[in-house]
Amino acid sequence: MASISLQGVTKIFGGKKAANEISFDVADREFLVLLGPSGCGKSTLLRMLAGLEQVTSGEIHVGPRRVDTLPPSDRDMAFVFQSYALYPHMTVRRNITFPLIMREHRWWFHLPLVGGLAKRRIERSAAVQDLVARTAKTLALTEMLDQYPRTLSGGQRQRVALGRAMVRQPDVFLMDEPLSNLDAKLRTSMRAEIIKLHREVGGTFVYVTHDQIEAMTMGTRIALMRDGVVQQFGTPREIYADPANTFVARFIGTPPMNLIEARIEPQRGLVLGNTVLPLPAHLAALGGQARDVLLGVRPHTMQLGAGGLAGKVALVEHVGAESIVSVQLEHARTAHNEDGGSGSDVMIVVPGYSDLRTGQPVQVVLDLAEAVLFERGGQRLRA
Ligand code: ATP
Repeated sequence: MASISLQGVTKIFGGKKAANEISFDVADREFLVLLGPSGCGKSTLLRMLAGLEQVTSGEIHVGPRRVDTLPPSDRDMAFVFQSYALYPHMTVRRNITFPLIMREHRWWFHLPLVGGLAKRRIERSAAVQDLVARTAKTLALTEMLDQYPRTLSGGQRQRVALGRAMVRQPDVFLMDEPLSNLDAKLRTSMRAEIIKLHREVGGTFVYVTHDQIEAMTMGTRIALMRDGVVQQFGTPREIYADPANTFVARFIGTPPMNLIEARIEPQRGLVLGNTVLPLPAHLAALGGQARDVLLGVRPHTMQLGAGGLAGKVALVEHVGAESIVSVQLEHARTAHNEDGGSGSDVMIVVPGYSDLRTGQPVQVVLDLAEAVLFERGGQRLRA
């Protein structure tokens, strides 16, 4: 059983909290993604799991064992780095076998002749050969076992790094942005390979990325972090459809959710500039009390048509099957800048090639069936 439990895990670097009282549970065989912008503390959290960084306070448990007090080698976790960290002077076979050799390591392994023989004996044992062959097959590396890393592509090198983690047959796989050195196309195919690997090897995966698409496609659950604090912990679907605050709402989804300043007025509804919209059924319970809010609407749920909010086209971006139209609203304001700034541009995704021109007057029609409301401070308002 490799469930993971974090209890109040905190890391302080020179007075600054890189991880602040982080608590969550990861189920056995889950694929957890730690997601967030640069500097939010996700790598630090992963390194504390691995034992590469000491916790300042809090506890980490794997199954029934407390591990934060153990050295990395006793934690039964394999770490895959962004930089692959392969040994350049070793063949792919030796790179993959290396963790198994290290497991049996004796001081005389360092001696030139005897050590070499001992390492070769491990490498040639039937059990190790079988394991390496199966690992190489899973990762499509069989043809490359006798090559050196310098002769491999980035994707192949990353697969060797994955192979080296797999042969240890650990309970837990920890991965720190393993695809970020690959080009976009290779990333997509390696993404699928890691998902397949997770299904086949059956361990618990914790995967760090700043890429929301990776997180949404790979994670069974996501911990979305900011400034050392977990903002939301949930399935990709929950995080997309039911964001806990405006940071989460705008971090997930492309283009990001529009946040329009509005006011709830009892008996009237939702007032946006000079337009009044009825509160949709799922938000109707919030209609009893007057208050300023932010209305969150996804760009895919807005249309250009008659009877909407008046504005002017600010920009049109053609992205193939659809176009992203930025509209400057005439009477309503937006709050897109997380630091409290505001503007009046909303983004709308329209199907096909839009031939709208900059400056053209348009009207923006909102579908509020999936809309969410936030307090002006950013916290979600729930009915
Ligand atoms: P990135 O995606 O850029 O790697 P991250 O979310 O993984 O970012 P961390 O690397 O965990 O973020 O860093 C979190 C904070 O802790 C940052 O402010 C960073 O400067 C600080 N930090 C990380 N490691 C150290 C260290 N060894 N000494 C001092 N400060 C550190």
